[in-house]
Amino acid sequence: MLASRRKMATVITTRDHDQKSARLREFCESEEEDIARKLLEIISTESEFPVPSFLNLVINNSNASAGKSFSDAWIYLQVCHEIQEIVHKKYGRYPKVGLVYLKDLLDLSVFEDFRTYSVHALMSYPEGCWLAFLTLLEFLHEKEKHEEALEKVIAEAKLLPSGVRDQHILAGFAHHLFSQLVPNNMYEVDEHEKSFPVECVCGCKAKICRGNTSVGSERTWHGRVDTIVNDMIAVTVGKTPVDGSKEDDDEDENDEPQRKQRKTESDCDSDTEVNYNKRHKCVLLEPKFLEKILAKSITNGFAQVHRDKNNLSGFFIPTFGVTSDHVSICLYDPESDCLLHIREEYGLWFPGSRKKLNELTIIAIWIFLNFTVLTRRRVAAVFEDIDKSGLHAALKGYLTHYREAKLKENFDIQPTVESPWKYVHAHPIKS
Ligand SMILES: [Zn+2]
Repeated sequence: MLASRRKMATVITTRDHDQKSARLREFCESEEEDIARKLLEIISTESEFPVPSFLNLVINNSNASAGKSFSDAWIYLQVCHEIQEIVHKKYGRYPKVGLVYLKDLLDLSVFEDFRTYSVHALMSYPEGCWLAFLTLLEFLHEKEKHEEALEKVIAEAKLLPSGVRDQHILAGFAHHLFSQLVPNNMYEVDEHEKSFPVECVCGCKAKICRGNTSVGSERTWHGRVDTIVNDMIAVTVGKTPVDGSKEDDDEDENDEPQRKQRKTESDCDSDTEVNYNKRHKCVLLEPKFLEKILAKSITNGFAQVHRDKNNLSGFFIPTFGVTSDHVSICLYDPESDCLLHIREEYGLWFPGSRKKLNELTIIAIWIFLNFTVLTRRRVAAVFEDIDKSGLHAALKGYLTHYREAKLKENFDIQPTVESPWKYVHAHPIKS
């Protein structure tokens, strides 16, 4: 059933093919094509901010072999260990961490052909590749509609109790952003999580798609991720900081009532910026969230390659973190054991507002959602001094359990209530 559904989702009929390729050609010399070409030129040539780059992470220690749920997963990164050592000694050099540029992960030929020859060049690439470009152009065409929807979703969610707020925001992003950037528009939110709304709360009445989002097995890190896009990519929601507008305004009013009365128009602009900065609290880089997303990324990477080795082995498989304002991307290649995490949270909106999505961030999200056609395979092998995460070496024989990790398992793991010594063969230690 699932296999046939996946087949239907990825293979398009001849009629669909003709309609979609005609639609792609309609974008020739369009405003959307122009925007996409300019942004892809930045992404495929620049190295530094605002283009994302990735830190090459090494794991010092973890509980990967303990078969724990994602909520109990812990990972102690080597860089954190080295920083703690420096703090303890009160001197020392900043630890070195390798940096991987986004452009070096990309399959640049299609980007160059698109920039040089427009949409017409795309038709010589496999169907999945030009469909991905069509999806991006369609999204740019309808961007305002999605921006308005997301703005409404966030505003509505802010009125809800904190227990359901993040799920409402994620449902909105799953429907109006992530799924809109993959050709089959497929996503599923965790069917067991009752806090997800039945319909998108922007008012568009779209039904929120639910499904089994389990990743991992009893002997590996495991649990249900918040959302799976295109049956492949996990998205986890971070706690959206309480909106600056009300609380921060209250705070300002208590602190500086007179200054508020003297407000001029330029003050309003700078206040908006201050509020925006207050909201920006690096939720997605906060250690607890980071540990969870790394564990999910590693486990989902193994499970995806186990599911479809022919098509997915050798890729850096992405996992996303998202709040109402930011996105993070974690990449793991289970074959090379290389682990990358985006250097900083990336803003979903142009600074200071939630009116206009940051198109460069959208392009980065689109690239990793369509990683099988836009990024390079076995790219870890071409980086001379890339570090392995060290997980393979640490797991030793236990690695087999990760290589056999599954998706959509219906595990219901109960905590052990028996004595841990019940099956022990105790032998006297000779004195
Ligand atoms: Zn909606």
